[in-house]
Amino acid sequence: MAVPKICVIGACNMDLISYAPRLPKLGETLPGTRFQMGFGGKGANQAVMAARLGAQVSLVAKLGQDLFGENTLANLRANGIDTRFIQVTDESFTGVAPIWVDESTGNNAIIVALGANELLSPQDVAAAQEVIEAADVLVCQWECPLETNLAALRLASQAGIRTIFNPAPAREHLPDEAYRLSDIFCPNESETETLTGLPVSTLEQAETAARVLLGRGAARVILTLGERGSLLVTPDQVHHEPAPAVKAVDTTGAGDAFVGSLAYFIARGFSLTAAMARANQIAAISVQSPGTQSSFPSAADLPPELL
Ligand code: ADP
Repeated sequence: MAVPKICVIGACNMDLISYAPRLPKLGETLPGTRFQMGFGGKGANQAVMAARLGAQVSLVAKLGQDLFGENTLANLRANGIDTRFIQVTDESFTGVAPIWVDESTGNNAIIVALGANELLSPQDVAAAQEVIEAADVLVCQWECPLETNLAALRLASQAGIRTIFNPAPAREHLPDEAYRLSDIFCPNESETETLTGLPVSTLEQAETAARVLLGRGAARVILTLGERGSLLVTPDQVHHEPAPAVKAVDTTGAGDAFVGSLAYFIARGFSLTAAMARANQIAAISVQSPGTQSSFPSAADLPPELL
């Protein structure tokens, strides 16, 4: 079997998670009970997921010249990811997400400071042309500037490379070109609601909203629907793939586990519905343990029939 090649354009962040009996008030200093760091950023997460399944993954990203950037590079390399097209800049800091968690309720408050991710430019994408054109699948999200994603999607599209666009986090307006350049447009429920202004509470509503996204130019839409699984809508096909019933303990990063897995199985040549079913299974495994990348399984942990 040829090793599937995936190129991910996207963000790397460091999650800095502090736990306390409650959230602090304005101006208050509160003793915390625990602190944890975790590697995050949708680009890094999706790249790690695909690499753990066995893909050859190149990540195109930007880091600051700081300790978080060094640790991020080491983590990506430990996951076997090609980091040749990750630039280190002294003009900003590595993306960080300081997170406060109220231990009594589980509520949290998060500030995402994207830093160097916001400097990832169309020129950086042009410099990575060789890995984009050598890929079976290109994957983008929306934590990096839209112009940068569009530059990558255009290159891939011109070279006939399949594209997955995960419009996360979503804003209300996305230019039609981004839809037209998406072979698979893959938002979650809340992103779909933001993009379309329509509710996505039932499967019928999800299909209606997906058709709006198709109408804007996406070739195929796959909506992720949390514990309800995922829904494929194309001009001539609708397919709901239920998620396995599991006891979820931490759903952070489930969408990234899904998108990274979907890219892997599509690059392997699986049909869309078979790729969705497998991505559901793997994302469902990830929600059963805490953390983001730490909850993503590797090929060696999975039953061979799933791969
Ligand atoms: P996001 O993490 O972006 O909010 P979703 O919540 O839609 O994305 O989850 C992505 C995928 O993860 C789903 O399509 C499903 O396959 C899986 N998943 C999420 N939550 C659960 C759950 N509670 N049980 C089983 N699978 C889940």
